[in-house]
Amino acid sequence: MSQPVFFDTHAHLDYPEFQADFTEVLRRAQAAGIAKIISIGTDLDSSSRAVAFSEKHSMVYAAVGWHPANAHEAPADIRAELRKLARHPKTVAIGETGLDYYRLPSTQGGSTDADEEYELKQAEIFQQQLEVAAEAGLNCVIHQRGDCFAETVALLKPMADKVRGVFHCFAGTPGAVQEVLAMNSLVSFTGIVTFKNGQNVRDALAATPLDKFMLETDCPYLAPVPYRGKRCEPAYVKEISEVVATVKGCTLEELSAVTCRTALEFFPKLGP
Ligand SMILES: [Zn+2]
Repeated sequence: MSQPVFFDTHAHLDYPEFQADFTEVLRRAQAAGIAKIISIGTDLDSSSRAVAFSEKHSMVYAAVGWHPANAHEAPADIRAELRKLARHPKTVAIGETGLDYYRLPSTQGGSTDADEEYELKQAEIFQQQLEVAAEAGLNCVIHQRGDCFAETVALLKPMADKVRGVFHCFAGTPGAVQEVLAMNSLVSFTGIVTFKNGQNVRDALAATPLDKFMLETDCPYLAPVPYRGKRCEPAYVKEISEVVATVKGCTLEELSAVTCRTALEFFPKLGP
């Protein structure tokens, strides 16, 4: 019996945690039925590394972008560099981008002026990435953390006829799921769905139609049960898929078919 195939749509393969056993990590993913992995860029160097991996490994694809938590380190305009990376045949998306108000400067002894500057810079480079995505005909991998869901939606919405987003590592309410879907965007779920204290995420998953979400690890973070607390890797999409199938009341084969179809449609360059 062949095992169901899944994709890891969000992995940080370029992080130092994977340097020592990179080839083994890919081999274990393949053995677990994880056929494709999207390595996510968090700045221009990280994005270039994702592209380089994609050239070297057939199962690896790249998303190129600048993470909001690093926005303060970004040059004023990242569009030209990003456009070059976006043209690569294995660049399937722009991101991760979005907003992150989780650690505002004021929570670490900074001023509220510093908060404003930080939020403004995040919004600027998010908008630049939406613009490049629209030009390149790519969708965006959206990171949203902290109290800024409404702000994130407000920036994406005016572009919604040109760019779709996947709200990755989704942990919002069922109502927030509806807002995302109303923009023709999607959500994706990580190993948090397996956590004992992850009921809110299981509720969000239950409220999401079967063809409106994708699976991801966000590795090296967020290893699912029974690996919780350890380094996460793409092979663990298998453990995530088992819990997701239970919550959705479907078979692994159905989940495989629908989530792979959703990913291939959302990231057209990921196909065939
Ligand atoms: Zn990430």
